[in-house]
Amino acid sequence: MPFGISSLSIEIQPFPKTCKYTHVTRFHSPRAATCENGSYMRCAGLILLVCATAVLAQTSSDPDVARAQIELNRIRAMVETGALPRVQLQKAAAAVADAQDAATIRKNIYNQDLTQDQADDLVAAAARRFERRKKAFDDAKNLVDLGVMPSQSLASPLEEMDFARKEYDLANTRAKLAEQAIEMAEAEGALQAQLAEHPSETPNLVDRFDGDGIFTPQIFQRVETAFASHFGKPLPVSANGETAVHRALGFDHRGRVDVAVHPDQPEGVWLREYLMEHRIPFFAFRQAVPGKATGAHIHMGPMSTRLAARGAGG
Ligand SMILES: [Zn+2]
Repeated sequence: MPFGISSLSIEIQPFPKTCKYTHVTRFHSPRAATCENGSYMRCAGLILLVCATAVLAQTSSDPDVARAQIELNRIRAMVETGALPRVQLQKAAAAVADAQDAATIRKNIYNQDLTQDQADDLVAAAARRFERRKKAFDDAKNLVDLGVMPSQSLASPLEEMDFARKEYDLANTRAKLAEQAIEMAEAEGALQAQLAEHPSETPNLVDRFDGDGIFTPQIFQRVETAFASHFGKPLPVSANGETAVHRALGFDHRGRVDVAVHPDQPEGVWLREYLMEHRIPFFAFRQAVPGKATGAHIHMGPMSTRLAARGAGG
């Protein structure tokens, strides 16, 4: 728990009439002041402490977001008393939004198991971060063009804008990979449904090889090593075992591995031959949906089974 506030208990109380706030949170701590006999400034000071700490406790576990929220509350109180101009409040609110976007990016950009919603959030947050830095750069450039600021003052906003652009590109790449993984999972879902109806018919968009039916982590390791030594690059695994996407589609992908290669590309042809030679079961998908050139991949291991019903939302 940041700032060690977990040991304090909190209660909401009506605020005394001398203050313009309707409620105050009072900590049950020996050092906590009250407003009953204090001045307005003491009230304001307590509100700041209270707001800051309560915000920290309630709204964000991300320290940067919590800090920006504390600052926003500090500035809001000062704007209310007329000590700061209102424009400072907008700046502080923008800083909170920016810190929230940064937290979203941090949480998701290296997550290999993104859902569609998480991928969308990631790209939107990175786009907003880039737009803010582009605007900051444009504003700085205007001042330089007007002769108000020296040209060296552009170095920092330019660097920040470039970084945000790279982050946005990376977010898009990550989202695209997530989208492909989702399409691959959907292809498997569609095949499962077809096999459930007609177990003996494998659609012609899919190659099926049952081998000896066994796929273990040791076998997977051998496939990875053989692929890497043949192609000089790692096997492009898009889903190793269970993922959030498979769970959301309701099937159990544990003990299965998806490889992001088209079955008819050289890597896919080699992999299918290797798997057949070693009697390792696989399904090779040429596309997710007929007519749609996405979702192609090779699934190693037996076909996934349906997850047992886990109740609403499970
Ligand atoms: Zn699979």
